[in-house]
This record gives sequence, structure tokens and C-alpha cells, in this order.
Amino acid sequence: MSLITLFLSLLLTQLDLVVVERAFFVMGTILEFELYCENKKSCNDAVFEAYSEVKRLDDMLSNYKPDSDLSKLNSVAGKRAVVVPEEFFDITRRSIYFSRITNGAFDITVGELVRLWKESESKNVIPDENTVKKIVSECVGFDKIMLYPRERKVFFNSSCLSIDFGGIGKGYAVDRVVGILRERGIRRGIVNFGGNIYAMGSPVGKSAWRIGIRDPWNKDKVISYIEISDMAVSTSGDYERYFEIKGRRFSHIIDPRSGFPVSGVHSVTVLAKSATEVDALSTAISVMGIEKGAEFVDRLSSVGVMMVAGDSKSALVYRNDAFKKFELNHALNNP
Ligand code: ADP
Ligand code: MG
Repeated sequence: MSLITLFLSLLLTQLDLVVVERAFFVMGTILEFELYCENKKSCNDAVFEAYSEVKRLDDMLSNYKPDSDLSKLNSVAGKRAVVVPEEFFDITRRSIYFSRITNGAFDITVGELVRLWKESESKNVIPDENTVKKIVSECVGFDKIMLYPRERKVFFNSSCLSIDFGGIGKGYAVDRVVGILRERGIRRGIVNFGGNIYAMGSPVGKSAWRIGIRDPWNKDKVISYIEISDMAVSTSGDYERYFEIKGRRFSHIIDPRSGFPVSGVHSVTVLAKSATEVDALSTAISVMGIEKGAEFVDRLSSVGVMMVAGDSKSALVYRNDAFKKFELNHALNNP
């Protein structure tokens, strides 16, 4: 086959691709697919398998389902060690790794704090500092999780510690979904799981997927576009999910060291190769804030970050070089 005919036949097979869009509600949020496939059936089958995989993960990692492996482990905190599935062990180990590299800004042991703030919201009272401090010292801290790799057992060194995978689970699920889609031969598409996005390949005829990053003060506005291919991007923000107590808004991201919801940074977008990594890091950098967050990402190579702080009239936008490389343009000025 000559090069030209090879090129033409490649182009023709690409033009033949169909686009399938599907959305599901799972893990408390929306899982969206936009995929290019050879035919509708192959796309639908892949989407169904991917969705089943996310449901399987939810059955393992959910803290709402009393039968999940997570709930079972949380329920015997401080009492006994539990044998967990290999994958569960692995996610826990990776979560602890992110705690280590972020100096505890990311910490899956925030469970009891999340519970306290939810309860405070329903009672409409801001919790008093002593209660918060007590929980932080007694029930929080990744160093209270004991891992026994040989037996695949987990033990909590505290009877009130509880794990919450809310800051990493969706990213992990996206990596699994992308693995399944690739196994099924899908090379082009977008997976968006509640703001945790993976861009596979590119749309036909283009070199990358264009993704808009939302203005934290105006849902309908985009403050920046990035163009990425075979990369993950995650945005953590305080504008979509938050608590409200006495008319005051609190972020759903909590600083595990103080026990209080973070404030100051409104949105953090992280770009890298793995969806698990960008999910954990966007949560962690939201805790660190602009200054410490910028210092932190300086030490990581090939992780792009954009942070938005300040207020709608004088926004403070920080972007590192690794982020700018993928950026198309930006509507806000960088002071
Ligand atoms: P979203 O769910 O909006 O994508 P994140 O990925 O930032 O947001 O995760 C926030 C969730 O993670 C919270 O709802 C809570 O369950 C959990 N969480 C809160 N603070 C932390 C933290 N410092 N480290 C790890 N997980 C956290
Ligand atoms: Mg996260």
C-alpha cells in the first residue's frame, strides 16, 4: 500500500466513526461520556461496561452504602484489623502517598470532620472550636491508618477515625473507565465525572479536545480554555458543592489540620496524565491556598495548575508554566 492510499484509508475509517453521548447519575454526581466509535453498538457496549465498573467501585468505596467495604472497615475503627480487597488496599495506599507529598493537606481520614460539618449544617450552628480541635487530634490523621500488606489488612489506630474517598474516588474511577474504553479499542472521547475529566485522543480532524474552565463566580462563563489530548484535568471548587450555616457558605473541602473548611481559593484546576492524581491534587491544593499551592507545584514536574482566588471584582489568577502550555487564551488578567 502506498503512503497516500494508507493515509486515505486511515482518514476514511476515521470519518466513519460515530459519536455517542451518554450520561448517568452515580456516586452522587453525573458521569458523562462523549465517545467516537466504529459503530453505535461498540460505543454503547463500552459505555455500559464502564458504567458497571463505576457502580462496582461505588459498592466498594461508598460511605453511604452500609454494605460497602469502606463502611464495614469504618464500623470497626479501633477495634480490629480488616482484610480488604486488593484494589481497596491500593487506593488507600495511594491516598496516604498523596497525604505524605502534600504534608497532610490531602487526607482521606477527614470522615469525622465531614460528618461534623454536615451535622452542623442541618442544625444551622457553626461547631465550636474545641469540638473541632478534639476531632482533629483524636479522629483525623493518615498516620493513624495501619497497613499490613502481607495480610492485606487495614487497622485504624483510633476508634473515631473514618475514611472518606470523596477527594480521590471519582478520579480513580475515571482512570478505570478510560482503561476499559481503551481495551475496547476506543481512542477518541471525553469522560467527565463530576468535574474529573479525561480527554482521550482528540475529536476527528482536530489535534486535541478543547475544555473550558468555568468562572467560579459565573457558571455560564468560561475563564480559560485548555486543549489537551490523553490527559486528565480536575477542578475543585467551592461554588458547586458547599455547606451553608447561618447564611455563611463553607467549602466542602476541609483542612484536615485545622478541621475547618477552606476559604480563599475558589477554584483549583490541575492537569496531568492520571485522573487519580489530578483529583487528589486539586483537593490538596485547594487546602494549601495560592501561595503554598504554587510552591508545592513548583516541585512537581509536568503538573499544570490554575488557581482562582479573590473576588469577582478583583480576581487573583495563578497559572504555572505547565498549565499555560495547554492554555488557549484567558479572559481574566493575571495580576
Ligand atoms: P468534588 O467532589 O467537588 O470533586 P473534591 O475532589 O475536591 O471535590 O473532594 C471533596 C470531597 O473530599 C469532600 O466532599 C470530602 O468528602 C472529601 N474531602 C474534604 N476535604 C478533604 C481533604 N482535605 N482531603 C481529602 N478529602 C477531602
Ligand atoms: Mg479531588
